[in-house]
Amino acid sequence: MGALRFDNAFVRELPGDPVAANTRCQVQGALWSAVEPTPVAAPRVLAVWREMLDALGLDEADAATPEFAAIFGGNALLAGMQPYAGNYGGHQFGHWAGQLGDGRAITLGEVVNAAGERWELQLKGAGPTPYSRTADGRAVLRSSIREFLCSEAMHHLGVPTTRALSLVGTGEQVVRDMFYDGHPAPEPGAVVCRVAPSFIRFGHFELPASRGDTGLLRRLFDFCIRRDFPHLDASAPDAVGAWFAEVCERTAVLIGHWMRVGFVHGVMNTDNMSILGLTIDYGPYGWIDDYDPDWTPNTTDAQRRRYRFGQQAAVAYWNLGRLAGAIATLADDVEPLQDGLARYVGTYERVERENAVAKLGLASFREGDLQLMEDLQAWMHATEVDMTLFFRGLADVDPASGDIAPLAGAFYDEDKRSSGEPALRAWLARYATRLAADAEAPDVRRERMRRANPRYVLRNYLAQQAIEAATSGDLSELHVLMDVLRRPYDDQPGQERFAARRPDWARRKAGCSMLSCSS
Ligand code: AMP
Ligand code: MG
Repeated sequence: MGALRFDNAFVRELPGDPVAANTRCQVQGALWSAVEPTPVAAPRVLAVWREMLDALGLDEADAATPEFAAIFGGNALLAGMQPYAGNYGGHQFGHWAGQLGDGRAITLGEVVNAAGERWELQLKGAGPTPYSRTADGRAVLRSSIREFLCSEAMHHLGVPTTRALSLVGTGEQVVRDMFYDGHPAPEPGAVVCRVAPSFIRFGHFELPASRGDTGLLRRLFDFCIRRDFPHLDASAPDAVGAWFAEVCERTAVLIGHWMRVGFVHGVMNTDNMSILGLTIDYGPYGWIDDYDPDWTPNTTDAQRRRYRFGQQAAVAYWNLGRLAGAIATLADDVEPLQDGLARYVGTYERVERENAVAKLGLASFREGDLQLMEDLQAWMHATEVDMTLFFRGLADVDPASGDIAPLAGAFYDEDKRSSGEPALRAWLARYATRLAADAEAPDVRRERMRRANPRYVLRNYLAQQAIEAATSGDLSELHVLMDVLRRPYDDQPGQERFAARRPDWARRKAGCSMLSCSS
């Protein structure tokens, strides 16, 4: 552990709050507040991701030490750590919410590993900060497991994301009213250590901009380029435009991945948008089972469904518009910002085409391919078809043969299956014609599809099962699931149960299809 080398650029180069007391307040003129984690009763390491240990230059022996549990549970600091909570604002559900900040996240420091990679270590659930408002700064085990699992599941799926190192039980209870319906109950608490090259969010820029603090905004911008976009030059005349265009591009690529794998973030507020285009802040997220672009896992959003699956590309664009507004004072005119937004649209159109090509196993894009994909999706929606199982099964279908047996497991409703079959056959005939134009060996198509269409995703009910077992003291389910999620594109003999359709009992169960922000 002593080998970790820290280079805490954020606190060294950006202004912090001179008020040292850890009390809730509006923090002006500063991007962070020094704050230490609040110790917990009995920190115990419940799980670690060895991939992240590796990246930091640690090993499993390190993770087994009492020192590791103490540090990543919030009870001790290593030499070189400078803990702080970040100050940012955000638009929540379309409305400006003012200062938000890290209410329960505390960065310990920025590790630079032997390869020169920067990894910021951030505890979530480590106790109150000046940004905690009325809340307690803690996190419950269920939401911590969800963040811990999904971060690395996404990484292994090839989706840009913040990472996860450790899950530490605190030995303390946290009281939560899970459905905001007047039934608060104690639940086990936990702390996740999440890791990313940068935790800067759109909201970091929005807050100083909203206060007219152009000096602070400029310092943040210069810093962000220096540390997180080192290939750009902050002093170049077009720096703002070049940077914004890259943020737009990264965001479009990110949303493209979400749509490819069936991920619904659930709370795409601008404070939950990473400047590096990473998936960040795993809260009431969910995975598409039956293909439904209108679905949202977030009960807090159930009425308006702002953050539903099919809306994510449009919401990201709206969020980028808020970021453009925030940095507009740094640009000489708005044209480069408009160009950036156009870059988003263009990039998203490109990734949509790439998704269609990869998911359908086509050799390259041709006119009409998007229509082919959209028609399939409309049919999947109407027929209540499991997205993951269908695309995976489609790789094994020879569309010219008429044999649709590989798709048999993808249907949720027998009546809809039989009434939808003629349309499926008609679509497969079009697909067969399209594939013939590629003149490729079937194996080539199959392999391409298997790399774009995962077999294993973190279905909501799978996470919930691991949570329930862990809550009653059995961590084996969590560890098996971690192992399966490491190789989401491989068939894993013996692990078929993790690739199954959502069972009926999970359809309307809390934690499986309905999640609140309470965590
Ligand atoms: P989220 O919707 O999870 O992105 O959270 C929005 C804001 O609420 C962020 O500023 C969080 O830090 C804060 N927050 C959420 N839960 C807690 C908590 N238990 N204690 C303190 N702050 C919290
Ligand atoms: Mg957040």
